[in-house]
Amino acid sequence: MSVAADLARRIADAGAVSVLTGAGMSAESGIPTFRGTHDSLWSTFDPMALATETAWRTDRDLVWGWYRWRMALVAQAPPNAGHRALAALAQHVDVRIATQNVDDLHERAGSVVDAHVHGSLFALRCFECGRAHEAPLDAMEPQAAPLRAAPPFCAYCDGDVRPGVVWFGEALPEDAWQRAVATTHCAVMLVVGTSGLVQPAASLPLLARRHGAYVVELNPARSALSDAVDLHWPVTAAEGLPLLQAALTT
Ligand code: NAD
Repeated sequence: MSVAADLARRIADAGAVSVLTGAGMSAESGIPTFRGTHDSLWSTFDPMALATETAWRTDRDLVWGWYRWRMALVAQAPPNAGHRALAALAQHVDVRIATQNVDDLHERAGSVVDAHVHGSLFALRCFECGRAHEAPLDAMEPQAAPLRAAPPFCAYCDGDVRPGVVWFGEALPEDAWQRAVATTHCAVMLVVGTSGLVQPAASLPLLARRHGAYVVELNPARSALSDAVDLHWPVTAAEGLPLLQAALTT
């Protein structure tokens, strides 16, 4: 029996599947991952200069310009066949998604996301008072590389507005984390496109296994999780998930 057929049978029997996604989920939409390829974001930029509170305090125009560039990149990226397959699967079984991604491609493909454990690029809030920033941002022309840009001001306290992502060294939003943990009570978990290096998100598949789940990793390369899951399926997200969807729905 093929991997897709075996997985489809397990998911159909359970009537449900939990999915943990990482940056590799959106790679085939044209959004670079952080690690794992020569053009990944961290091989081009220094994360510690961009994705930390210290970086923000040191040079917020540099940090805001980088996130503004990533927002524009995401806004013009279409969901890929993997995102679409997960949304289609939800027509047949209960699909619960926890994502480390800060993009909105699952939602634009039609999925409901249980938890964005690392926040969202688009959930802007004030760095000083923490209140949400609802005002639309100025339109941005697609640009080849990030440019420095001043962040907008908060309408309440005049503080600087920051992206709603979780930076290195910051705690995860507690409610999102609890919803992600809830997805680990499952019979089958798919782990798609994550290096398994960022904690505590990387502990979710192990927690699922402890709860008795059959855990399958979809990743063309081996990751820090490969030895800890039941099966490493060496496919990309846009290859493997449509195969699974076809096996489950035909
Ligand atoms: P990562 O960059 O550390 O690892 C990416 C993984 O995806 C690698 O193991 C790689 O082999 C695999 N991969 C590459 N192409 C793939 C494909 N087509 N299909 C399946 N797998 C593929 O990603 P991570 O583990 O999610 O890292 C954590 C941080 O990266 C998260 O905090 C996340 O917020 C952030 N991030 C998010 C985005 C996004 O929102 N799209 C993009 C870059 C980074």
